[in-house]
Amino acid sequence: MTGQKIVDKAKSEGRSVLTEVEAKELLKQAGISVVDTKLATSREEALSISQQLGFPVVLKIASPDVVHKSDAGGVKLDLRTSKQVGKAYDDILKAIKKQYPEAKIQGVSVQKMARPGVEVIIGMSKDAQFGPVIMFGLGGILVEILKDVSFRIVPLARRDAREMIREIKGYPLLEGYRGQEPVDVANLEELILKVSSFIEQHPEVEELDLNPIFAYSDGAVAVDARVILGEG
Ligand code: ADP
Ligand code: MG
Repeated sequence: MTGQKIVDKAKSEGRSVLTEVEAKELLKQAGISVVDTKLATSREEALSISQQLGFPVVLKIASPDVVHKSDAGGVKLDLRTSKQVGKAYDDILKAIKKQYPEAKIQGVSVQKMARPGVEVIIGMSKDAQFGPVIMFGLGGILVEILKDVSFRIVPLARRDAREMIREIKGYPLLEGYRGQEPVDVANLEELILKVSSFIEQHPEVEELDLNPIFAYSDGAVAVDARVILGEG
């Protein structure tokens, strides 16, 4: 599906939230690196997609009504066999149906288990005065508790991307801390600039969250994505 079709489909269904699968497809088309993710609408399909992608895989609930997937028991990581995939599929649906009996469920997304990296996040929200603003930070508690993030107004220049990465307090973690390999910061700059262009090209996107992105010594990949549509 083209990006416009993904957006049109959601709108025609009266939805402002894109599912992870839809959001990742839209971002992939904009050249943003995301983990290969496919929608399974049955247990059998989840099994065949897992075999196609190759183990280990991750299964997640695909529902526009479930925003925090892992809190609801909707994420199963590091599945190494068909048996584990089948059980994860059943467990996810059971947990979601119990906690969100009203939720519309599209299916379950199947994706490659990404190798561990330094978790970072890139977000976009719209400010009443400044319009779209991009946020960068380190993932996990550094963002949630310490609010160690930086902001720039769209469109960003390369210099903005450079600065916003370097001005967070956690920057030394990206440079390689206590023997850890340094992260490919140039690639993160590139990623931020791609998000900025994506936002310019999609005024209908009201909110964007790439959380987390795994950053490596050779590139980076978003493992979760959330897109909210507005009027645009
Ligand atoms: P939530 O809706 O709860 O934010 P996520 O998709 O972010 O769900 O998954 C929760 C956590 O699971 C992530 O923060 C990440 O640490 C891990 N995770 C998710 N997808 C993958 C993946 N494809 N490979 C490896 N780890 C993943
Ligand atoms: Mg997430």
